Order: sequence, then C-alpha cells, then structure tokens
Amino acid sequence: MNTKQQIESLREELRQHNYNYYILDDATISDYEFDIKLKELQALEEKHPEFFDANSPTQRVGGAVTKNFKTTVHDSRMYSLDNSYSKEDLLDWETRIKKMVDGDVNYMCELKYDGASMSLTYENGKLLRAVTRGDGVQGDEVTANIKTINTVPLQLKGDFPERFDIRGEIVLPIEGFLKMNAERIENEEEPYKNPRNTASGSLKLQDSSEVAKRPLECLLYSIVGNNLNLTSQYEGLEKARAWGFKVPKEAKLVKSIDEVLEYVDYWDKNRHNLPYEIDGVVVKVNNLYQQDELGFTAKAPRWAMAYKFKAEQVSTRLNEITYQVGRTGAITPVANLEPVELAGTTVKRASLHNADQIEKLDIRVGDEVFVEKGGEIIPKIISVDLTKRPADSIPTSYIASCPECGTELVRLEGEAKHYCPNYIACPPQVVGRIQHYISRKAMDIDGLGGETVALLVKEGLIYNYSDLYELTVEQVIPLERMAEKSAVNLVNGIKASKQIPFERVLFALGIRYVGETVAKKLARHYKSIDALMYASLLDLVTVDEIGERIAQSVVEFFSSEENKLIIERLKGFGVQLEISAEKLANQTDKLKGLSIVVSGVFETISRNELKKLIEDNGGKVSSSISSKTSYLVAGDKMGPSKRTKAEKLNIQILTELDFLSKLK
Ligand code: AMP
Ligand code: ZN
Repeated sequence: MNTKQQIESLREELRQHNYNYYILDDATISDYEFDIKLKELQALEEKHPEFFDANSPTQRVGGAVTKNFKTTVHDSRMYSLDNSYSKEDLLDWETRIKKMVDGDVNYMCELKYDGASMSLTYENGKLLRAVTRGDGVQGDEVTANIKTINTVPLQLKGDFPERFDIRGEIVLPIEGFLKMNAERIENEEEPYKNPRNTASGSLKLQDSSEVAKRPLECLLYSIVGNNLNLTSQYEGLEKARAWGFKVPKEAKLVKSIDEVLEYVDYWDKNRHNLPYEIDGVVVKVNNLYQQDELGFTAKAPRWAMAYKFKAEQVSTRLNEITYQVGRTGAITPVANLEPVELAGTTVKRASLHNADQIEKLDIRVGDEVFVEKGGEIIPKIISVDLTKRPADSIPTSYIASCPECGTELVRLEGEAKHYCPNYIACPPQVVGRIQHYISRKAMDIDGLGGETVALLVKEGLIYNYSDLYELTVEQVIPLERMAEKSAVNLVNGIKASKQIPFERVLFALGIRYVGETVAKKLARHYKSIDALMYASLLDLVTVDEIGERIAQSVVEFFSSEENKLIIERLKGFGVQLEISAEKLANQTDKLKGLSIVVSGVFETISRNELKKLIEDNGGKVSSSISSKTSYLVAGDKMGPSKRTKAEKLNIQILTELDFLSKLK
C-alpha cells in the first residue's frame, strides 16, 4: 500500500467509526483506539500536504478562523412554517389541502427541533458549504464551523444525487448544554441561558476550534434540489439516513389528522425524555407530487404545518405601560414587567397591542399578570390575576397624544390602533421611514444601517429618504464611529441603490399597506410612478387584488405635497421610478383577464417559470379549477380528478407546447 492509499484507507475507516458512534450510537472501537488512528492520520497528512482533503476526518477539530461570514444566496429559498395550536387548526388545514390536491393524503409527523436552521449543500458526495437560514433568501456561510459537528457527514455513502441541499437544525443536546454550563460556573463565567440560543450563537463563533469543543448535533429533515428521484418525504428521510445523515427515528408516517393528534399528544407528554429540546411537531404532506401541487405562500409551504406545544406560563407584576411609535405612526402599548424567568429567558416587556386589548384585559399598573411565551420572541400577557389586585388600583386610561411629539392621536374607524398623524415631523416616523427605505428587502443599501440613519436624522443631515442621495463623504465622516472607509462605502451604497428596480422602490417608499406583493402588482399595472400618482381611487380598486383600504392609502400618500416633492427629487437623482425597458419588453397583455390553472410536471419549462410567464403576460395563476378558469395547462402526472373536473366544466386543457405556441 502506498502512502496515498494508506491515508485514504485510514480516512475511510475513521469515517465509518464516526458514523457508527455518532449516527448509529453503536461504537465498535474504544475512544482510545479511535484517537490513536486519528493521530496516525494527522501525522501522515502533515508529512504529505499534497494529499490534503478539506473533508478528511482530521478537519473536524477545527482551527480555521473566519472574520467575516460570507453572505450566500440559497439555491432554493428556506421558508418558514405556518403554526397551528389545535385540532380545529389542523382540520382546517386538511380541508384547504384537499381542495387543492387529488387522492388520499398521508402525513409525515416529525419533531420540531428547537435550534438553528441550516442548509447544507453536497456536491459529488462532499460537503460543499453550510449556510444559515438568514432571511430565507440568503444566509451566512458557516462551513468551517459546521464541519466540526460530528453528526454532519463530510463524505456521503451509497447512491446520492450529484448535487443537492439538505436542511436541518443545529441543536445542542441538553446533557451537553448542562455540562458546558457546569464548566462556565466553575470558571466563574455567566452560564448560558438556553440550548437554542447557545446553538445558534455557536455557529457565528469566529474560531472553529471553539465550535469543535461544543457538543452540537445536526438533525436533518428535508432534501431539496433538482432531479432527485424522490417521491415522498418518507423516502427522502430514509435515503438521507442511508447516505449517512442523522435523521431522528421518531418521525412517523400516518394516514389521518387523528393520528397526527395522537403523535402530538404523545410527544407533548414525552418530550422531556428526548436528548434535545423540541417546541412542537411538524406535519408534512408525504407525497412530493402533492407537495408540488400545493406549493408555497409568500412565507411558508402550504404542504407543511407546525403544531406548537402549549406555551409555558408565569405570573409577574406590571410596573408601567409605555407607548412606542412605529414608522407609520402606529402606537403600540408596551407592558414593562418585573423581570421574570420564562422558558429559559428573562422577560421584561410584553406587547399589549392596542387600546382594545388593554380594555379587554382590564390591565392596570400594579396588577399581577400571567405571561406566556409561545414560539415567538415577544411574550404575551394572557390575563390579570384579579385576586391580587391592590385595592387602590386605577383603571388604565389610554394616552391621547403622541409620546414623541405631543400631537393628538387619531383612531380611524374600523382600525385597532391609534396613530400619530404628524407624518412629517414625528421623529420615530421620520427615522422609521428612512430605515424602512434602506432595509434589505427594499433598497438594500450596503454600508448604511438603522442606527446610522437615526444619527443622520439627529444631526440634521437628512430629513427624508431623498436627502440620502445628497450626502457627501465629508458630511458623514465626523459622525460617531465613522471612518473614511465606511463613509465612502455608505455613499457608494446609496449611489448603487439607484439601480434597484421600480417595484422595490415602490415598496421602499413605505406607503401604508403597500407590502412587497402589493408593490409588485401596482408596478406591473401602472408601470411608472407618474401613472400611479395620478390614479384615482376608482381606478386603483379595479386593479386585481387591490382593495379599498390599500387604494385609499395610496391616494393619500400621493396627495401629500411633501411626498410629491420627495418623489420629484428621487426622480432627479436617477432612482428607478418606472419599469425598465427590458422588463417592459417581456410583459404583454396577451393573457389579460384569463385565469389559468397549472398542474403536473413540465418538460421544457419549470412550473415556476410557467407561472411567471403567465403573470408577465397579464394572466392570473389560480390554484384550483372553477367555472371561472380559462385554461388548464396540463403537464405530466397531473391528478385525474383535475382533468375530470376540467372536462365537466368544459374548460380547455392545453399541453405545455400548446400553451407556449399560443403565447407566441
Ligand atoms: P419557524 O421558525 O417557527 O417559522 O419554524 C420553521 C423552522 O422550524 C424551520 O426553519 C426549521 O428550522 C425548524 N424545524 C425544526 N424541525 C423541523 C422539521 N422537522 N421540519 C421542518 N422544519 C423544522
Ligand atoms: Zn408623534
């Protein structure tokens, strides 16, 4: 055996031992023997750097230091999950599903591991990169840290696809967490709060050898990619297991919502016997073809549902109610509480939402209140313990004027929240609007953060977002924590935002109720800010999916002289205030007024491309067949009931080629 073969064979052997120990939990050699072999391999690799392999078992000890984690765009987006809390929620979900898919639906029940989500990309069986969820579209690349986690295979076994992503959760098992804390207490260091935060904090440590010391695990739950040859979630999990991933064996395939509920009940009672924390169960439609039919909402897959366990509760004292002013002027009352431990974190504040909520709870300063924490970060106040109410307690009266600028508050009919109408000069509104303008999903201005915006406003350098474009490096340098380089970056970042397409600019303007989706619709329909600016209320409500509330808000926005001036300025600076010619060229009205259902698998075009094509040509994509459907574009493997329904309603069925040539 030559040296290269010797190295290879040691690597292979160690990999297998790793797998036996960490994945199968069934060691076949002692730790001591394992160490000897690892040292042997290390020595050989050191002597022969020409055989270096970034995925060798020796690389698990870490060592690489990352100063800045690279932002990386996910190949396919990492969605969130919709939540349910009761049997009714699940039954409603099932009803929605059954309207959209054909045939029986089976469900995969999985535990909802409470840690940090992670997307691992494998190419030719080797770990290529590991990226955090981030905002779902892009995250931070933390590969060096992830490699130190023993349950992450660096080299896959068996018959794996050439390239795919696999998603999972990085968790810190409770035993390991307690051990880490015992050590910290020994060293007179502050103990960590909970396993979940410690796990996600670990991923961003700069020194990977520090990460290697932490007993993290990676539990996998989903494979994504093209041409994977999978037909069900169940099969995906089985295969992932065979390739060497740790897929918890508690996952279970069931046939009904009743069985789902049995699973939920069982794990709600038994969750404390698991080695790691879970905060619920995730239910997924098992059949991947049905999953494909169901697709995604803007936030989450329609084919999956999280079932959250009942939250933990504690009681504490309400010390004060304060009021926050948001960027749209909306007022949010906040309960300031006597700090209390709840589900692993210290709770000091809770949202009270609005005046109605305060009235409903009849909550008063000095009350003892019950606080609950579900999955969300902000805890909720559930009720007041009336038995403990002091005799001299005074009912809460809601504020009448803005805590920031003193303007009298208004409350529009049918709205829950009070607003500060001082649009132009109320400080948190002024700052908040600019912060929204520069945010990632809006103008995504590199080198400029929310705090700097607040500072720029405070220093009187800007009053609204159009002022950003006149900032100079000289003006910015004297600001706190600014150096020449960061000032240059800031100014360049602002300049670069002039390339951001119209639909995002429209979102960035911060018109109330105009979110990302609405902005897209309006941009597509009106094509330029000028056209939108002169649209009447009546005209606006004729646009698909634009209701009166949105229309009203748009009209109001553009009726302000101040806003008109700002828009003129943006125009002058070269911000994109109309759809680019290129985009316009791809848009037609050929399918205007048509409602089209797309079903099945296509050959020359992906389903998403097909949908985009329909929308770009003015058509509407709809998910289920009704008498209003204009066409059904049918691909391969379309469900039989869709076809029957279309035939019954006399709806024209087109093949993908029919459709594409029709469009031409
Ligand atoms: P949420 O963060 O509440 O929107 O829930 C979505 C997150 O649940 C995902 O990003 C995953 O990180 C996590 N998760 C935990 N276990 C699972 C599972 N078995 N399947 C899917 N997602 C899971
Ligand atoms: Zn105000």
